Amino acid sequence: MTKIAKKIQMVDLKSQYEKIKTEVDAAIQNVLDNTAFINGPEVKAFQSELEQYLGVKHVIPCANGTDALQIAMMALGLKPGDEVITADFTYVATAEVIALLGLKPVLVDVVPGTFDIDVKAIEKAITPKTKAIVPVHLFGQCADMDAIMALAKKHDLFVIEDTAQAIGAKFKSTDGTTKKAGTIGTVGCTSFFPSKNLGCYGDGGAIFTNDDQLAAKIRKIANHGQSVQYVHDEIGVNSRLDSIQAAILRIKLRDLDNYAAARNKAASFYDKAFANHSKLTTPARAKFSDHVFHQYTLQLKNVDRNALREFLASKDIPAMIYYPIPLHLQKAYLDPRYKAGDFPVTEQLCESVVSLPMHTELDEETLNYITTNVLEFCK
Ligand SMILES: *Cc1c(COP(=O)(O)O)cnc(C)c1O
Repeated sequence: MTKIAKKIQMVDLKSQYEKIKTEVDAAIQNVLDNTAFINGPEVKAFQSELEQYLGVKHVIPCANGTDALQIAMMALGLKPGDEVITADFTYVATAEVIALLGLKPVLVDVVPGTFDIDVKAIEKAITPKTKAIVPVHLFGQCADMDAIMALAKKHDLFVIEDTAQAIGAKFKSTDGTTKKAGTIGTVGCTSFFPSKNLGCYGDGGAIFTNDDQLAAKIRKIANHGQSVQYVHDEIGVNSRLDSIQAAILRIKLRDLDNYAAARNKAASFYDKAFANHSKLTTPARAKFSDHVFHQYTLQLKNVDRNALREFLASKDIPAMIYYPIPLHLQKAYLDPRYKAGDFPVTEQLCESVVSLPMHTELDEETLNYITTNVLEFCK
């Protein structure tokens, strides 16, 4: 198949920017004209617009998604030695902040198909020292929050949702209600890293909660533990979203649902092309969540993954491996409690997954070119 003119990228931020360039450029210029770079009106406006969009009482912007997780854990008063359960198959940030705060990361496996944290495994991992569960809404789909919230209630645990990859995804509870990812647990944490579904043009993050007291504590910790200027009640951090990023995020938030629709359209194209293929398993859809497709991730069977990636690269098609190494086998997180073979699903996924280009600007010609080449190699 002849190559297509447009460069294929995992995430095409340039083409997306070109569509909103006039608005974005004017918004940035406006911040420059007002020189309110930190905590200006743009940050407050974005905060309240995101609260409305998510249907949550408090959004506290901060510097990035990793900080969001750290600040949430600090605000919940977790103490060194407390156990925090999270998924073995995730981006490192989730476990990193747990370890950084002297808490004990307790890893559990995920379920194949949806890549969701395995709730039965969470239950087995709970001990008297367990204080919190951190479900990760991986690749754009919610974890099983009904089951997780029920476990948390039974064992009196905090739930810190890592929704860095799933902002805007809707969770459909068995009680008939629908809530946005990150607004179900005690607290939700997200990232506005450029490649995330709601990405700014630098770093950014936010914390969500419906709890007034917790929101006040989070705000204080994100601002040097300060209640009144130069009065420090506790040790905090310095973590802020800057005004230029907030101004950009306000514009992109208006398009977020359209962005999710574009991602779903691309995912449906992939699904259809790879349906019932003996060597390719398409991502499963959880019945309790819609999907915002941060990533479109295939599981390969009897396919040489490196050779596939090399073949695709020779056709100018990028493909990435999220994630190649389970957390429990990462050098920094090695722990005598864990050994190879302990988390068979995650270990299998790390060896068999491949993520295809996924963003808001994929047209049919590009999708056709990508799928034709994947099928050509996997025939
Ligand atoms: C991106 C990401 C984070 C961290 O966000 P940053 O803004 O890069 O710090 C945390 N958790 C998950 C699952 C992520 O994908």
